[in-house]
Amino acid sequence: MNSMTGLIGAALLLAVLGVIGWLRRRRRSSRVTRLSSYSKSRGIAKMSCSFCKRKVPAKELSYYARHGKAIGVCKACRPQAERQALPRL
Ligand SMILES: [Zn+2]
Repeated sequence: MNSMTGLIGAALLLAVLGVIGWLRRRRRSSRVTRLSSYSKSRGIAKMSCSFCKRKVPAKELSYYARHGKAIGVCKACRPQAERQALPRL
């Protein structure tokens, strides 16, 4: 009976250690994702405009739907997209 309780205790301990290890791994990986998205948001990410192909910061692009696909349009080309009556995303 005593050895049985010891076995259950050891199993519980292993389970707890496993959960702690899993939580630690999870926290570390989520920090890595946050770091990489942070560096992206610092303006390193540049996208080319679908009309003039000029490289502009992604946040300066306006997004429209064309032929079922999303396209990024820079400030200068926005009237062009409006002329084609593309739906704004
Ligand atoms: Zn453009």
